[in-house]
Amino acid sequence: VTPPLAWRVGQGYDIHRLAPNLPFWLGGVLLDSPVGCVAYSDGDVLLHALIDALLGACALGDIGDHFPPNNPQYKAMRSSIMLAHVLEYVTQAGYAPQQIDCTIVLEAPKLGPYKTIIKNTLIQLLGLSVDRVNVKAKTAEGLGAIGTQQAVAASVSVVLMAVGT
Ligand code: MG
Repeated sequence: VTPPLAWRVGQGYDIHRLAPNLPFWLGGVLLDSPVGCVAYSDGDVLLHALIDALLGACALGDIGDHFPPNNPQYKAMRSSIMLAHVLEYVTQAGYAPQQIDCTIVLEAPKLGPYKTIIKNTLIQLLGLSVDRVNVKAKTAEGLGAIGTQQAVAASVSVVLMAVGT
């Protein structure tokens, strides 16, 4: 048996298709946008990537293992609720998030006006201080599905620290 880890690192990635007249949730924030995510849940790619990073850090599989798509229980489920469940799993595993770094790739709408509110929402959802959360936004330079505004993607890295005992 290997000794318990004092620190754990996780990374997560997600991509969703965009279509007209759907809500566009990103990092727990509802964007003002003519397009939104095609998804069974609320399609929040940033929170989905964060959930996968947390699960990955704890060696607990992925979001699909815990919230299977096409299960009516999870239809239109807010990703912030899924995140709350996953944070409970992290706590049960004996760890607490210490730091996250996020990258969003989206062509439009421009995320400049949203970066601070997304960051503050993540700070609240995770209970972290302002120097522990970073949100980066970039475009795909017009290339591929993201560049032609057919999709949005996000990746998240997270560091967990063992707590208690
Ligand atoms: Mg997803």
